[in-house]
Amino acid sequence: MADRRAAILRLADALNQRAGEFARLLTQEQGKPLAESTAEIAYTEAFLRQSAALDLPVRVVEDSDRRRVELHRRPLGVVGAIIPWNFPLLIVGFKLPLALLAGNTMVIKPAPTTPLTTLRFGELCADTLPPGVVNVVTDANDLGARLSTHPDVRKVTFTGSTETGRKVMAAAASSIKRITLELGGNDAAIVLDDVDPKAVAAKLFAGAFLNAGQVCLAIKRLYVQDRIYDALTAELAGLAEAAVVGDGLDPDVRIGPLQNRAQYEKVLGFLTDAARDGTIIAGGAVTDRPGYFIRPTIVRDIQDGARLVDEEQFGPILPVIRVTDAEDALRRANASPYGLGASVWSSDPTRAAAVAQRLEAGTVWINTHLDFGPTIPFGGAKQSGIGVEFAEEGLAEFTQLTVINMAR
Ligand code: NAD
Repeated sequence: MADRRAAILRLADALNQRAGEFARLLTQEQGKPLAESTAEIAYTEAFLRQSAALDLPVRVVEDSDRRRVELHRRPLGVVGAIIPWNFPLLIVGFKLPLALLAGNTMVIKPAPTTPLTTLRFGELCADTLPPGVVNVVTDANDLGARLSTHPDVRKVTFTGSTETGRKVMAAAASSIKRITLELGGNDAAIVLDDVDPKAVAAKLFAGAFLNAGQVCLAIKRLYVQDRIYDALTAELAGLAEAAVVGDGLDPDVRIGPLQNRAQYEKVLGFLTDAARDGTIIAGGAVTDRPGYFIRPTIVRDIQDGARLVDEEQFGPILPVIRVTDAEDALRRANASPYGLGASVWSSDPTRAAAVAQRLEAGTVWINTHLDFGPTIPFGGAKQSGIGVEFAEEGLAEFTQLTVINMAR
């Protein structure tokens, strides 16, 4: 394990030396502003370094006159990693150090529209690790199914939509493959009426519009208590109007384009429906230049049952729903097949904690959203996934538990 740990740290060093080049390439292929790409590279490096420090030592669960029972963690073999297009490198950084530290080899398949940064990272792996340990294969959206049915692949770690996750789960059944599925989300944020709308608006805006809303854990539904509803929607609209939308390489730009045409057209469909189901108070499609640009869009006076509230928009358009009280908000927030993240916003920690404990999600934040890291386990509830990534819990998922039971 020490050799593997050292190899992962060498990879982190190699990435660090080329961080600027990687960030630029990531903006060029994914579209996000350069500051966000720079952060993605830094987070990837942090995930490599901090994951390399994890350990799963042999655990003795019984040592008696009758027997000694030890729990050993063994590698699985070949791990297939299937990656979406929103964080092409960071999501590799979630999976790779844990898979390798546990002693596995990997086949990584990036999304068809974002292969470049991953391929460049594959070159770093080839320079740093023994031959064949990490392999990157690209496709035209036709190799994911092959990877998840391949008899030599012992585990698939998949991040992507719930719809594709279902296919991976079905495919894995043929050989009882191990699977970890990190899937879609429709994160609710509940804002109670004891907050200062001006003070929380910027944080809520950042939680909804990072990477133009193309984030699994973005705030995708905002439930706001009646008394502050008008003030908060007005603050959010002001922030949306002020945000600079454009080429991610321009240092002033806050919101880049949607990553691909299919997603752009999908979000345009949400915009059309939102104009019917609610009131758009800021934003809309950008029509005076080519590219898949949509301004950050705030939709008020919209209800559950509207497509923008019930489905995952995965773009820069946020529905703000009026609620009477915390009970009302909880009932609506939990009435979703998704359960990735959720948050509660309040100046009263006791009140916020009581609501947080009743939200059905893998991660529930209080007065923040989208805060995660390599030592905090992460996984979805309900149809947002199966299994856990990060930390010892995530490392364990890349191993086979073997019980050694020795009679005395
Ligand atoms: P997607 O499901 O369309 O594609 C994800 C990956 O699966 C791609 O590499 C794709 O080529 C591959 N794929 C396609 N068909 C497959 C098949 N039959 N079998 C196996 N793999 C197949 O997702 P996307 O549009 O690239 O990403 C957006 C989605 O990902 C959103 O729903 C978002 O919420 C989700 N996501 C989740 C997390 C998380 O950690 N929970 C993180 C990021 C994104």
